[in-house]
Amino acid sequence: MNDILFNIRHIRQRITDACIKSGRNPSEVRLLMATKTVAPDRIITAFESGETLIGENKLQEIKEKYDALKDYSHEQHFIGHLQTNKIKEIIRYNVDCVQSVDRLELAIKLNDRLKRERRNLDILVQVNTSGEASKFGVSPDKAVELVKQIAALDHLHIKGLMTIGLFSDDPEETRPCFTLLSQLRQQIINLNIAGVEMKELSMGMSGDLETAIEEGATIIRVGTAIFGKRVYPDSYYWNEQNPNQS
Ligand SMILES: *Cc1c(COP(=O)(O)O)cnc(C)c1O
Repeated sequence: MNDILFNIRHIRQRITDACIKSGRNPSEVRLLMATKTVAPDRIITAFESGETLIGENKLQEIKEKYDALKDYSHEQHFIGHLQTNKIKEIIRYNVDCVQSVDRLELAIKLNDRLKRERRNLDILVQVNTSGEASKFGVSPDKAVELVKQIAALDHLHIKGLMTIGLFSDDPEETRPCFTLLSQLRQQIINLNIAGVEMKELSMGMSGDLETAIEEGATIIRVGTAIFGKRVYPDSYYWNEQNPNQS
């Protein structure tokens, strides 16, 4: 378990260094721990080191870990592909923010359900900045329109944008994805859409968090660099063709 504490300290240092390099305050960047496939005892170790924000990709894993984690104060975001038939349960499990809203149909159904339960939900709009067909997210040229449409849905509160970015060993190849997301945010801010906040930019992972911070990330999502390598390849979670995802 000590590896987790060591890794978190290392990530915190990387965040601080990247912030200093780009003239930002480290308090502007939140660390979200991507906990897919990570067992509750390891997540609890991370909580005990002071971390409080986790993200899951699958409803099934939220359910499985719920009882073990519920007594530890934390915030949970949903960062995976959300199917409309899972909406009811995502709301029931009190997810604090869905970072992966990428289509109007999903937003409308989420809003309908929330309305019935007289609740609201924070969301981010996920943008496919890499153009890879295998990645989820609204295409950049349709993102502004989608934000406008979702803004009209009273029970969804848009807090910003999220992207996964090009998967590459070289963060410089991913940088244009982050730049694009940052530009989209500015474009949306300039439109001054009622009810739309554009505070958050969720981008950057284990291999490219420095680049993302330089480009303005406010939430970085880190899995491997904290918890170690996963058994499943990321395509298991990200690929449209995979029938098992939720
Ligand atoms: C798994 C995952 C991450 C974290 O990726 P690592 O490379 O393990 O840091 C970030 N975002 C999403 C959407 C993920 O599914």
